[in-house]
Amino acid sequence: MKVFGVYGYKNSGKTAVVTSIIRELRRRGRSVAAVKHVSHPDFTVNAPGVDTDLFSKAGARSIGILSDEETTIIYKDKKKLLDMMPFFHSDYLILEGFRQALVPKIITARNSDELEQDFRREVFAISGLVANEISEYKGKKAVPIGKIERLVDIIEEKTFSKIPEIDCKGCGLSCEEMLYAIVEGERTIDDCMTLKQDVKIFIGDREVQLNAFVQRFIKNTITGMLSSLSEYKEDTITITIEK
Ligand code: SF4
Repeated sequence: MKVFGVYGYKNSGKTAVVTSIIRELRRRGRSVAAVKHVSHPDFTVNAPGVDTDLFSKAGARSIGILSDEETTIIYKDKKKLLDMMPFFHSDYLILEGFRQALVPKIITARNSDELEQDFRREVFAISGLVANEISEYKGKKAVPIGKIERLVDIIEEKTFSKIPEIDCKGCGLSCEEMLYAIVEGERTIDDCMTLKQDVKIFIGDREVQLNAFVQRFIKNTITGMLSSLSEYKEDTITITIEK
């Protein structure tokens, strides 16, 4: 799943850009998930007085809603973005407003001043009103919403899987440095040793994320032990431990 963000100041056109991107990706047959960041402290998806609001006010810390068309779980605490990732399974995940997230981003801005003030190193494209005035800034293409096909072409080319954010340094960089290196074209996501996962462990049907060091340790230990067996050869090894 490729993950990228769209951020910008209030009224800079973020939501219009995100919805246009979703429509164009769907037109191309891609599946899309989207998450919005809300900074308003009193925000709740519960409308006052509805049953789930009453459950919440009575003290329930998580509340579920199931209908024939939708499923919702409301947790009454703040989760990290990374905690939400396992719930999304699509070709693309778009994050609206997650300024600090370690993902490549599109900035939306109304004018050049806003663009200059708010520009971040992980930006790979520019949109919003400012893209009607300029075609490029700091080497990144500016594409107005009216040319959404061009913007989505750039998205398809420049975005990649979520960097794990475990700073194992298996690639020789921190996760943040790796993000910048990929956006700047010096590395690719295939250089992340953790995502490469040549060692996989499943507990039940859930895959355990292993950093590069642990993968290397397990691989060297197991192949070292098995190499003395007469059946041993260089091939994929599968070990299953029954409960
Ligand atoms: S190998 Fe991957 S997880 Fe480890 S520091 Fe590099 S980018 Fe981060």
